[in-house]
Amino acid sequence: MNTLKSQNLTDTVKQYMQNKEREIVDLACKLISAQTENPPGNEILAVPVVKDFFRSLNIPYKTFEKVKDRTNILGYIGQGSPTLLVACHLDVVPAGDDWKRNPFEAWIENGRIYGRGSSDNKGQMAAMMAVARFLKENESKLKGQLILAGVADEERGSSLGLEYLLSECGVTADYAIIPDVAHNMNMIDVTEKGALFLEIISHGKQAHGSRPEGGINAIWNMITLLERIKQLKFRCTTHPLHTPPTLNLGSIHSGTAPNIVPALCKAQLDIRYLPEDSSENVLNDINTIMKEVEAREPAARFDIRIISNQLPSCVPINNPLVAVISKHTQSILGIQPQPKGMSGATVTKQLIQKGITAVGFGPGDESEAHATNESICIQELVDFAKIMALISFDLLS
Ligand SMILES: [Zn+2]
Repeated sequence: MNTLKSQNLTDTVKQYMQNKEREIVDLACKLISAQTENPPGNEILAVPVVKDFFRSLNIPYKTFEKVKDRTNILGYIGQGSPTLLVACHLDVVPAGDDWKRNPFEAWIENGRIYGRGSSDNKGQMAAMMAVARFLKENESKLKGQLILAGVADEERGSSLGLEYLLSECGVTADYAIIPDVAHNMNMIDVTEKGALFLEIISHGKQAHGSRPEGGINAIWNMITLLERIKQLKFRCTTHPLHTPPTLNLGSIHSGTAPNIVPALCKAQLDIRYLPEDSSENVLNDINTIMKEVEAREPAARFDIRIISNQLPSCVPINNPLVAVISKHTQSILGIQPQPKGMSGATVTKQLIQKGITAVGFGPGDESEAHATNESICIQELVDFAKIMALISFDLLS
């Protein structure tokens, strides 16, 4: 795009999306009224909102279900390459308690939409639908394709959602943007820590509580081990885009009564390691600690089980997505979003593992996701639609 054309386009998009505010709000409210709490999900309830919209614009779409009623819907605008996938999830976390109104009947207050999923992730889907409309109306100018996906199961690991679409349905793209990181469009998620969830099992021997010497106390041995694991030295402790690695002891289960020596104790750990480290390193180091404790406490015996292991991910910060996101966020909001690392895991991990250049970027306050009285600023959604329309045009025309 030459400068003049690009300034015209920016002005056109600004005007266009500002006029679409009502539509974005209506779509967000309709999506919120579909009760897609996961579990159980039932994303099929939200699909008609997206399907009717695609149909009304003659946007070709496909639906995919690994499990009945856990529907994913993908719309395709333009043809050819490159391709940009934008995936918003249609499931929400359970509403929980203490809402001031019905979490599934969205309401507007002080320029914000309230309701479960407003900021995570249905508001973003509504904004992207307005982007799809703009691109469809300008389809003749596109060389590439926007794939807008409303996906299932994001809140519980994505095995019925993006993971399934990528591994079993042949869905792919050159670029992907996942608008599910909040931070009010101030950051671009380019790297994520590895997340290793472990269960440690301490085996003992049951005995009468009045004669503990006749048994082996699985809890005491677990305490000794956990005290040592707490001191775990990560091999890599710093990264320019990340906070340090972390280790959380999330649960301990054991014991039945004061007068029984417990024979079994289980503890669960959540370990977030840096991209330059590895799960093998962490596991080796924990195994070494286990051996040391077993050597010092001859009756102690431990096992370790991997609950899940999500590898760290990273795209270069000089990739084209970072450049276009920065450029258009600057032109709409006057701010330059910073490439950053995430401690939490998003679906960008799965995309990057499939060779897709994927980043996270989107509107919303960090504190709103999963909160009671969840909400999102309407103007922020409109601005997000403007930025995403310009990004799509830049990449695809
Ligand atoms: Zn989300």
